[in-house]
Amino acid sequence: MTKDKKKLKVAFPHMGTVYIAWSAALKKIGVEPFVPPYTSKKTLSLGTKHSPEAICLPYKLILGNFIEAIEGGTDYVAMISSPGCCRLGEYGNCIYNALTDLGYKAKYIELTLYDGLKGMYDFLQKISGKNDPILFIRAINIAIRKMFVLDDLENALSYYRAREINFGDAEKNYNKALQYIKDANNTRSLKKAKKLAFDEMKKTAVDKNKEVLNVDLTGEIYLVCDQFSNQNIMRELGKMGVQTRRSLTISSFLKDAIIPKIFRKEETHLQRANRLAKPYLMRDIGGDSLECVSDVAYADERGIDGIIHISPFTCMPEIMSQNIFPAMRENCDIPILPLIMDEQTGKAGYLTRLEAFVDLMRRRKRKLSKAQEKQAEVIK
Ligand code: SF4
Repeated sequence: MTKDKKKLKVAFPHMGTVYIAWSAALKKIGVEPFVPPYTSKKTLSLGTKHSPEAICLPYKLILGNFIEAIEGGTDYVAMISSPGCCRLGEYGNCIYNALTDLGYKAKYIELTLYDGLKGMYDFLQKISGKNDPILFIRAINIAIRKMFVLDDLENALSYYRAREINFGDAEKNYNKALQYIKDANNTRSLKKAKKLAFDEMKKTAVDKNKEVLNVDLTGEIYLVCDQFSNQNIMRELGKMGVQTRRSLTISSFLKDAIIPKIFRKEETHLQRANRLAKPYLMRDIGGDSLECVSDVAYADERGIDGIIHISPFTCMPEIMSQNIFPAMRENCDIPILPLIMDEQTGKAGYLTRLEAFVDLMRRRKRKLSKAQEKQAEVIK
């Protein structure tokens, strides 16, 4: 982009709260972020109408986001591309062709995340028309830091929601907390915003003695992170007194794909996946299957009450992981609920499955604690 095109608007597709991070990076380099309306039924039907029937749900939603962004006046739509062995590698070309066939004029640009920092750097250079390494490093830095805070905040929301005394308080406070993070435009103000955001969350009145279940969420990363596509599973489980932890997050992806090894202190998700998935799956078969298989073993190792695997209908790598789970039962004694989502998934049936799973976990937990009490008495 040249100087006189500085006001051009750039839109990314939605995926949970990631829009807050990319908006911060674009603002930093002087480009206007265009945030399309949050994914809704309208987005889904627009995407579905112009997609091949059997393509996976994230594709349909991303296409719907782009159509809404273009109709709302964006100049560029930016797609995250990857060379993956599943359909993700084809998403870019297919979406570009679909938009062209529909006669949309917005420009299409790709961000190759799997090229690590270089991919992000090249993208910022192309979109801004500038060549300012310090500015780009600052933009990447603020986006990554915001993403870390956003994921931590979502974990806090899950803690408070499972224990809140007045239903809805935690989410109200979370929305206020999000605003602090949105408004921060440099690392120093983000530090202050983070403190204010967590203070806001602490205002939620909780029942600390409530019997809360702990559940990990794994599956295809888009569905795990995006509340529209997973029908806000974290909220639904929170209402039932379940604290959730997403095993796949954007910040854990960033640690593996973007942040240089030298800055990583702990074992990353992918490193853990390679370690724990090995007895069941020898190599990466695309998508997040290696991570999902290892997440079951990891949840079992930590004594978590259950794990839910969420995947889009027809997602090839996740079909493979779901077929591996029964074999894992020999070593991993943890309840697993597989959920397959697409545009036909109805809310009522889905809630019934969640309720039944929560019921099963609760009974199992009580049984286990009774058995432990009895054993303790025998030892006495
Ligand atoms: S991981 Fe699954 S849902 Fe995601 S792009 Fe690949 S096939 Fe589609």
